[in-house]
Parts: sequence; C-alpha cells; structure tokens
Amino acid sequence: MRLLLLPLVFLVALQTGCDRPSATATSVAAAPAAATQAAAAFAMVDETRIRAADAEPQNWMSHGRSYDEQRFSPLGSINRDNVAGLGLDWHFDFPTDRGLEATPLVVDGRMYVTGAWSHVYAFDAKTGALLWHHDPKVPPAWAVHLCCDVVNRGVALWQGRVYAGTLDGRLIALDAATGALLWSQQTTPTDKPYSITGAPRIVKGLVIIGNGGSEMGVRGYVSAYDAATGEMKWRFYTVPGDPAQPAESPALEAAKASWKGGEWWKTGGGGTVWDSMAYDAELDLLYVGVGNGSPWNQQIRSPGGGDNLYLSSILALRPETGEYVWHYQTTPGDAWDYTATQHMILADLVIGGQTRKVIMQAPKNGFFYVLDRATGEFISGEAYAQQTWTTGIDKATGKPQVVEAARYRDKEALVLPSPYGAHNWQPMSFSPRTGLVYIPVQEIPFVFKHDPAYRHHPGLWNVGVQIEAAGMPEDPAIAAQVLKMVQGRLVAWDPVSQKEAWRVELHAPFNGGTLVTAGDLVFAGSARGEFAAYDAANGKTLWSAPVQTGVIAPPISYAVDGKQYVAVVAGWGGALPLAGGEVARLAGSVNRSRLLVYSLGGKDALPAPVQTTRQPEPPPLQADAATVAAGKTLYAQFCMACHGDGAVGGGVVPDLRYMSAQTHAEFEAIVLGGLRHERGMVGFASVMGQPVLDAAGAAKIHAYVIQRAQAEKARLAAGASSASLAPAEGPQ
Ligand code: CA
Repeated sequence: MRLLLLPLVFLVALQTGCDRPSATATSVAAAPAAATQAAAAFAMVDETRIRAADAEPQNWMSHGRSYDEQRFSPLGSINRDNVAGLGLDWHFDFPTDRGLEATPLVVDGRMYVTGAWSHVYAFDAKTGALLWHHDPKVPPAWAVHLCCDVVNRGVALWQGRVYAGTLDGRLIALDAATGALLWSQQTTPTDKPYSITGAPRIVKGLVIIGNGGSEMGVRGYVSAYDAATGEMKWRFYTVPGDPAQPAESPALEAAKASWKGGEWWKTGGGGTVWDSMAYDAELDLLYVGVGNGSPWNQQIRSPGGGDNLYLSSILALRPETGEYVWHYQTTPGDAWDYTATQHMILADLVIGGQTRKVIMQAPKNGFFYVLDRATGEFISGEAYAQQTWTTGIDKATGKPQVVEAARYRDKEALVLPSPYGAHNWQPMSFSPRTGLVYIPVQEIPFVFKHDPAYRHHPGLWNVGVQIEAAGMPEDPAIAAQVLKMVQGRLVAWDPVSQKEAWRVELHAPFNGGTLVTAGDLVFAGSARGEFAAYDAANGKTLWSAPVQTGVIAPPISYAVDGKQYVAVVAGWGGALPLAGGEVARLAGSVNRSRLLVYSLGGKDALPAPVQTTRQPEPPPLQADAATVAAGKTLYAQFCMACHGDGAVGGGVVPDLRYMSAQTHAEFEAIVLGGLRHERGMVGFASVMGQPVLDAAGAAKIHAYVIQRAQAEKARLAAGASSASLAPAEGPQ
C-alpha cells in the first residue's frame, strides 16, 4: 500500500511546488550556496537553547517543548477572544495511510515531523513547502512485530541534525538542511521483535532512546548514544536477565528478589521504555517511563508473585552514565499491561504551603500521581477514571491496594482500566497559568482470563491471557451494554487537590493529545474527527473544525515572522483503532493522513473526502460451527491485533468482512505465503523461523471471516447504515 501510494507524493509535491520528496539530499544540494548556508543555520539546537525554551516562544525545540515536557506554549496571540477566527493556513497529505502520533518540532521557521513507517519530513513552517523527505525503508514485514500500528512519535534536534528511531530498531541522524543520512545505529538485536516508535530526547549531547515489544517478548532497556558519532555510551536494562548470571547493574541485582519463579528471562520479561522521558537540568536527573510485563499474565511470568521491578515504574537515572538514582513503581506485579510509559510532566507546585518539585503522570492504571522528583517520594495519587483493580492507594506506603480477584488467577475478571489504559501515550499538558493538567481520558472494560495452554510464539503476540475472552460478545443486546460502558473525554485535572476541575465528553475513546497555551486555550483533536479549542479555565468549546479523520497526536504552537500557528498531524490509527473492533468504530473515523496548520484568518481548505466502498458479495459459508469456532480462536490469537476484534475494521487496516473476491481466492497465499508482505501483511506459515499456522489453520480463520462477512451482509440487509469504515482493500 505504501509503495502504491508513492506516486501521490510526487503529485502533491508538484501541486505545491515542493522539491521532489524522495530526492532528499540531492534536490536541495542543487543550490550549493544555499545548502552551505542552510547547513550552518538549521536546527542549531543545544542544551542552552532548550533549557531557555521560554526565551524562544516561537520555537518548539524538543518533544514536550521544554525539558519539563509541560507542552505549554507561551504564545498568546491566538486567545479566547479571537480563536473563533482560526482557519486552516496550510496542509500536507502524507504518502502513508496509517496512524500518525508525532509531535512536530519547529526551529527558526522550519518544521521537522515523522509520519508512519518512520518517515521523516522537513517543511517551511510558514508556507508548507516540503523541503525534504527521508524514507528509512523499514521492511514492511517488520509490522508483524508491532503491537500498535506502524507509528512514530517524533524527532529530536541537536546542532544541525535530526534524530529519529525506526520501527526496526535503528537510530538515525540526518542533516537538518538536506535530510541526508549522517549515521545509523542498530540499537536492538535484529533477531528479537524490538521496535522503536518513541521520540528520542537529547541531554548533554547524548541521544536517549528506548524501544517497544513487550507484547511480543523482549527485555526492556534504555540507551544513550553520542549525538555526534552514534557511539553507544550506556544502556540500562529495566528488568533482570538470567538470575544465574551477574546482573548488569546494582539496581538490577536489587531487583532480582522481586521476581519469583518462572523463566521470564528466556522471553524477555518486558519493561520496555517505549515513550515518555523528561529531564531536570538542576537535579541532573533523567526520568524514563517503564512499560508492562511480558507476558502480561504474572502467573506465567513470575508465578511466585512479587513486585517484578522495574516494570510499570518511573525511573530516575543520571543522564551521563545511566546510573540508577530512584524508582517509583505504579503497578507492582503488573498483570494488566499497565505501563508507566505515559507522559511525565515536571512542575513546581505549592502543596500544603510548600513549593514542591514534582513529577506528574497519569499512567494506564487509572491513578494520577504526584511524586517528589528529587527523591521519588509519593506525595499523592487519586483515580482520574473508573478503576476496579484496587481499593485505592495506601497513602502511607504509596502502594496500590490490589483487589485479589483482579489478578484473574482462578477465574476471569472484568477489569477497568483495560490494556488501552485510562490514559495512553497521548500526551497531556500543564498550564502554569491555570495550574491544571489536561488529559485525554477513556474508560473501556476488559476481560482478563488466564491461558492455561499458553505457548510462546517468537515474534508474535505473547500475553498469556485468552484474548478471545476479551472480545465483544456476539449477542447484539449484550454488546450494546458493553459499548455503553465505553467512554472518552477531555479532563482538566487539578494536581494539587487531586480532583477533576472540568470535563468535556467526547463520546468515543482514543482521543488526541493536548496542548495548552498562554492564550488560555486547550487544543486537542478527537477520535471522531474534530480539532477543537477549549477554554482552559472551564472547558467551554470556543472553536472546532472537522478534519475528516480521527486525531490521536498532540498539537503544538509556533510562530514565524510574529504570526502564531497551531499544528497537528491528523491520522486515525494506533492500538485501539487497529484492535478495538466495535469499540474503535464508535469513533466512525477512517485514516486520512495529513499535517494541518492553522492560523487566525487561515484560508486553506481540505478536499472533499472520498466515500467508503460497499461490501462486496461474500462467499457462502460452507464450514460447520466447530470449524468457525476454531477459526475464531485462531483469529483472536494471530489476526485481531491489527484487523480488529470480531473482524470488525476500525478504519485503518482493511476490514476483512469487506474482502474482494480476489482476496478470498488468494486467502491462503496471503495468510501463509505472505503475498502482501509489501503492505505489512507477513505470511504466518513461519515467523522468526518458527512454524505458526498451517493450511488447516488458515482455512479455519477464513471460515470465521466468511461467517463474520455474512453476518455483516445480513445486518446491512436489515437496514443498518452502511458500516464500512475502511474499504475492503487499498487506500481511499
Ligand atoms: Ca503494552
């Protein structure tokens, strides 16, 4: 699909008068004098500039704008009084059609942003002209090792260079002027299902980068590379390796006792550092968020229980050495995919009459934490969404009081939050003017059930629970009840009183990250395809615009020549839109991948959206009920994570109920033989050298998909509105 779309880039480039995007370095080098000047002038970011980010409100130089990651823009020319006049100033159509999660960075009039498949782009931030485009050529088949879409959350800038991670584990450095590749480092073993989707941070000339893959089976770590040379300087593993071997650090030696029984090290144990970081220059502490256990099910991973350090923890490290300083574990003995990788914000808050240097996080587990960032001391923590896995946090110890039944040892358990989290990676923001934190919150129920037949499949989903048990019930009445429980909203949270200040219901989960500005506006996109500005004090909607796709990424604000802009990448995708089935469909969104830039009086307009296709006639169902049931189990295990619960497409990856006659005819060649691996659909006959599915298994999955297609046909015949969010195949 990616390859088919490439000609569109050329068209867009011609229409907007840009350089040819695939020509990267050579196209810009065609004007040598300008290129020489450019190399000296672009993205000359360093520690001094980032530490003084407030002195350059026109720029957004690092992921969270400043090292404290507050995502507060000091720009205020767009404000409550005039935001109604906001309009689209320019836009860019990406050549990809998968989820977009990036934070654009803007320095001195140039914008640097990543798209799907780890592509990197540079634009003139004023005109929207594409300056260069770098395609790192990630093998499409690597997509099978990704839990949550082929996404990337952005670049880092340092002394004229642009740094990005790639899905297959490389860290690359590009010339900010031309996009030319300067160096590339493989940061992960290529025989393990690691991936990079997070944005690097740069501290003291070191590029800090983690990775993902806990759902597949990897051992988490975070590493530092010399920004100039790409040489690795340190690596901190987050979970112990083989207990018979010496640990890599004293902190890991101390962690060993918190893992009890099992053979977690053989498949990794998890604890990946896949997104959030922050840095306090005065304390000289680098904070990293650590992910969930692998597999999710602690009975398999560490059958004797234990806290399983440093899963689901915030770690404070020395940035120059990776030395451990402190940790705080949000979810001891994680069994629910409750990562602590969600966005972390540093701020100084007056609590109980004292100014406290705090770090704040609203991880997946449903609690909003305020910790002392010098020591890791627990200050406060309260539920910001409905949660059923604890009776609250013990204020003396700072530990959650876990409801034993939620550990699903003896029987399945309906638990809130779900593995999608009460808040996922979508960044929140903090306004020093209102003192509030703005969080995209969601409530989604999930059934956890122990998988007694669990067997590790290298490179594939290995979570140790029966995913099928978490699927949407097929009875429409029960499904309707479940869907009623699903919530999505924008919440303003007071971190001092630990209370909600206001909320805006958004009616579907997986909404966009937030930006707050000195104009006292909160900007955020929604799953349902609106981009809106809210009054930061009370949540009143002051402006909104339809954007034709669900927005999950966070906006930024910048200025060029004194004019303020608000930018966001719009492109439905990520974990829930892929796997969520009917829950994902609540949004009603399809992927249309664009960069949108707004200004007061902006006059640009989006083209009219292309309508979705009708359902092709599905083949008759000839298999018996037992075959369909067996196919359903296999589908849940191997297909659901991308093609959706119940074979219901969420608007990104093809909806299998809408397969063409040709796809039905080629089903085995696709599913086993990898006929469409160039589009990210790997063949499942063998993955990482291990057999996965055979022809009989593929036929069972096919039978289940035909049954689901026939059910959809009957539903449409009964008068349901045309429900195909994604066309059967191919881009729109
Ligand atoms: Ca996870």
